[in-house]
Amino acid sequence: MKLKHISRQLLKNYIFIMIIIITLGLTTFFLNLTYTNSKINNSIFDIDSFLYDYNNGFDYALSKQNLEKKDFLIVFDYDYEVIDVYNYKLNKGDQLDYSEYNSFYDNEDPYSYYEFESDDGEYIFLLYLAPVTTNMIFVILIISIAIITFIIFTLFLAKKTGKNIIRPLELISQGVKEISNGNYNHIIQFETSNELDDIRDDINHMSLQLKHEIERRKQLENERNQLILSLSHDIKTPLTNVIGYSQMLLNQSIEDENIKQSLEIINKYGLTAAALTDELFDFTKLNMDYQHMLTERLDIVEVIRLKLIEYVNEFETLHINYQFNLPSTPIYTQLNRMKFYRVLDNLLQNSINYNHKSFDITVDVQSIDDQIRITIEDTGIGIPQTYHQTIFNPMVRVESSRNRNLGGTGLGLSIAKQIMINHNGDITIDSTYTDGCRFVLILPIKN
Ligand code: ADP
Repeated sequence: MKLKHISRQLLKNYIFIMIIIITLGLTTFFLNLTYTNSKINNSIFDIDSFLYDYNNGFDYALSKQNLEKKDFLIVFDYDYEVIDVYNYKLNKGDQLDYSEYNSFYDNEDPYSYYEFESDDGEYIFLLYLAPVTTNMIFVILIISIAIITFIIFTLFLAKKTGKNIIRPLELISQGVKEISNGNYNHIIQFETSNELDDIRDDINHMSLQLKHEIERRKQLENERNQLILSLSHDIKTPLTNVIGYSQMLLNQSIEDENIKQSLEIINKYGLTAAALTDELFDFTKLNMDYQHMLTERLDIVEVIRLKLIEYVNEFETLHINYQFNLPSTPIYTQLNRMKFYRVLDNLLQNSINYNHKSFDITVDVQSIDDQIRITIEDTGIGIPQTYHQTIFNPMVRVESSRNRNLGGTGLGLSIAKQIMINHNGDITIDSTYTDGCRFVLILPIKN
């Protein structure tokens, strides 16, 4: 089985950690074993041969044995007088103190002391074989070094893994976020020798493709908009002729009722087509110019107040109850006054056109946090819930029977939406309101 790079890297890590753990375990085990065995002295001392050689002198007899540095040997007689001594603080002829003698056996390590007599029973030999004590500090030191080595290598591995896997993954995630936010120029940059390089290349390639695709779409959209603009412009001239000539004929006294009716139909549809062409032109232009709309800093309360004043007479004539809740202090925003008036006109005209007499219109303006919230609501027939999702799309009109004679184009609300978006704001329909229609307009405050 051929392992990929990341798997190989992880496998390497696992093996390395396993080796360190095993080494650490074995070290501890052997050190522990050494310490347990340390009670055993490694000196080689053969009592029989020593006694035999002692007849030829103490030093000679000693030289045949193999005592270690801390061992000692005292030869004394039954009066505790020291005859010979090796490696102990007493000298020949000294008296071995009885309590000192006893202290050897009170020691924690009685088995390290051996006492034997000479063949003739004249001397006593006291042999001390020092236990080889392992230094605990040394053991702790070794274990500490092992642990530190383990930590250092683990950190090293973590860093290496981080460099080869985690950091690239972070860069990939960051890059994907950038791309999903529309920054198609973002290029993910890192260098590993594993599969993440392939992912990096794929994502960079995808982002480049998306960029090209979006540019292509923009270009197509632009071409389509240009086509609509020139078409609506070109249609305008023949339509003006149709409307003008039909009107001219209608202005004359026509006796034939059929011809008169036909002329009226031609004139009416000519006007509808002209209105549609105008709105289509405006909608397309708004779509194209959304970044270049001219605005000025204006008090929105004053702008709305002026527009509402224009409507007061009409409301009263039509017996429409109106209520305007405008704040007494100014609220500023960047506005294209004429375009915004178009939104207000569309909403107010719709209320007037689509509702029967004697209903209420309420306009409310508030500032909430850093936004201006304008609600325009009526207590008319409302727009059915099923249309709420699509009502701002171009050419959407509520079932034609009720609109048949009103001459709308179905573009008014989509133009309003585009204008609000061009102001970095929005317009929505409040689906929780069921007494008629409530439109909510949002604009950013510009202090
Ligand atoms: P139109 O040119 O047809 O008026 P709009 O986009 O302005 O186009 O409106 C879309 C449809 O929404 C209209 O055809 C109408 O049926 C409905 N509508 C808009 N405003 C209201 C309202 N205040 N009350 C009832 N229906 C409305």
